[in-house]
Amino acid sequence: TDLSFSVERRPDPATDERRAEIHANPGFGVHFTDHMVSATWTKDGGWHDGRVTAYGPIQIMPSAAVLHYAQEIFEGMKAYRHEDGSVWTFRPEANAARMARSARRLALPEISEADFIGSLKALLAVDEAWVPPADGSEASLYLRPFMYASEAFLGVRPANEVTYSVIASPAGPYFAGGLKPVKLWISQDYARAGAGGTGNAKCGGNYASSLAGQLEGIENGCDQAVFLDSGTHEYIEELGGMNLFFLTKDNELITPELSGSILEGITRSSILELAKDLDLSPVERKVPIQEWKDGVASGDIVEIFACGTAAVITPVGELRWAGGSAPAVGGPEGGEVTRAIRSRLLDIQYGRSEDTRGWMT
Ligand code: PMP
Repeated sequence: TDLSFSVERRPDPATDERRAEIHANPGFGVHFTDHMVSATWTKDGGWHDGRVTAYGPIQIMPSAAVLHYAQEIFEGMKAYRHEDGSVWTFRPEANAARMARSARRLALPEISEADFIGSLKALLAVDEAWVPPADGSEASLYLRPFMYASEAFLGVRPANEVTYSVIASPAGPYFAGGLKPVKLWISQDYARAGAGGTGNAKCGGNYASSLAGQLEGIENGCDQAVFLDSGTHEYIEELGGMNLFFLTKDNELITPELSGSILEGITRSSILELAKDLDLSPVERKVPIQEWKDGVASGDIVEIFACGTAAVITPVGELRWAGGSAPAVGGPEGGEVTRAIRSRLLDIQYGRSEDTRGWMT
């Protein structure tokens, strides 16, 4: 490890009552814990100055490169409280590896797996009480590690000074009133990423470029947009923040293969592994958008779902596009297999079933 983290506790942490109030109604990404992690990288000095301090405003120069050229990456994961009070994360080494891949793509310095996991532990050690109680409700503490070019310099080159930080935000159960399928919009004109671009990195710019397509979807009565490959507009890539799966009547569980412009979700990878336990055949290949339209009409596709850390698994309902729509499959609360995979993942994450793969830390 390169980093150790000094701790400066804030004098005015939230009271137990305030925290309980936030846990009762957390929303998503609106409330933050008492502390945050930060560390600095310089070209000459490497990683140093790891700290846990009060969550609060940061100072950067208006000329900080990130504000101009978007040299920034992030991760998203959760801490779960188990029945015995202990706190766990799910496959954090996979998030560390993805952050290292993102760093290489954005010409940012890598942070080692040990330092990445160390930074999460340092924050959780002081803000442990912010991990929601184990009450069976699927609440968690969302962890957001991120890294950005903090050097004050307007030249276009990799920054010589970079800041790493971790903040945390209580998250409620994604589906408070039962699973509800999302309606999806095919974004024909706007791609989120292109060949050779940054689609397989978790960088802020990808999310900025997804917003116009998302907005178009919402204007057309949908919840989210499906992005297609930017070259032919024929193949399904993913949603703005989730990967997609299709279950066929022959128990194939199909997901678009990693094209270079799809983010490799940790939920996606986990589902591909769990599929075998459920007697499903996992398949990664190109999936034409036409196959979706035809498959729900012919009965070949029986369930569709999206997956990611935030919602774990979300059933997908109707598909709409400019001039048409394809009906939902799988029923009003998501299909049987969709729900079975969802429960299996949640049982591992919340410690209700044995962690046979060593996924929990
Ligand atoms: N695709 C995109 C574009 C995402 O932002 C995310 C969320 N990180 C995912 C897929 C799902 O990834 P994960 O399962 O690791 O949360």
